[in-house]
Amino acid sequence: MRFQYLGTAAAEGWPAVFCDCEYCRRAAELGGKNIRTRSQAIINGDLLLDLPPDTYLHKLQHGLDLSAVKHLLVTHCHMDHFYPQELTVRGSCYSPVMKSPELDVFCAAETKALFDRCTNHEIDEASSGALHWHILKPFEPVSFGRYTVTPLPASHMAQGGRNQPFIYHIVDEAGVSVYYLHDSGYSLPEVWAYFEKQKPADLISLDTTNGGLPTQSYWGHMGANQVLDVVARMREIGLADEKTVCVMNHFSHNGQSTHEELEALAVPDGVRVAYDGMTVELEPRA
Ligand SMILES: [Zn+2]
Ligand SMILES: [Zn+2]
Ligand SMILES: [Zn+2]
Repeated sequence: MRFQYLGTAAAEGWPAVFCDCEYCRRAAELGGKNIRTRSQAIINGDLLLDLPPDTYLHKLQHGLDLSAVKHLLVTHCHMDHFYPQELTVRGSCYSPVMKSPELDVFCAAETKALFDRCTNHEIDEASSGALHWHILKPFEPVSFGRYTVTPLPASHMAQGGRNQPFIYHIVDEAGVSVYYLHDSGYSLPEVWAYFEKQKPADLISLDTTNGGLPTQSYWGHMGANQVLDVVARMREIGLADEKTVCVMNHFSHNGQSTHEELEALAVPDGVRVAYDGMTVELEPRA
């Protein structure tokens, strides 16, 4: 499995769209891995994880052929993970030549409702008809293409039923197993119960929005210290072992840490720090 991070920032990007704080200025000066766009990843060129407003930029930056994407998994309907208007220019006269004209979209009911609200006034029938929506339920796996995906409830601003955020367990036909845990704070007890029953993962990607700051009372995200606690618990229960690639991802300027500072926190514990474009090749286990 080829897993590529396309965007590794929280909602406002880093440097943030409208911010001139010292951490945004420092990221702009340092450049390189400190420039982070909105959250997205792609697996094997055909499974897209989230659809942020920076999707087009990612196509340009990484030479992606998004016409070949067959499946779109949306974690939740915060705008850094789902910008529905982009789908109005998919298909029809906007992209008459596509390797995969049909797109299966997997998401929560609320994400589909947001798509309807945002696009009804401008999407044409051909574009709309090429989208096939699959509304997910927590803990109910779905299989498509070469993947089986289990949506798990995220601990992420789900209060009052306003939001149904999912984190995903993705397994390919060779048994390569990936956990994409964005966005989420410390996982819910029922999710830990699920983790305890699983084989060791090949890749685990963890929400590190708060960077190197001590974890705050702010809910729904984690910082590096909490990620390291989570990784330690995952190793204890056997979800992570010596082969598992554990990755900190999804960073905010409010977390303040540069890429290098994050690595100083993560690498001694065998954890990697994501950056835009980082690719991880995952081989099936013997
Ligand atoms: Zn986010
Ligand atoms: Zn800033
Ligand atoms: Zn979010």
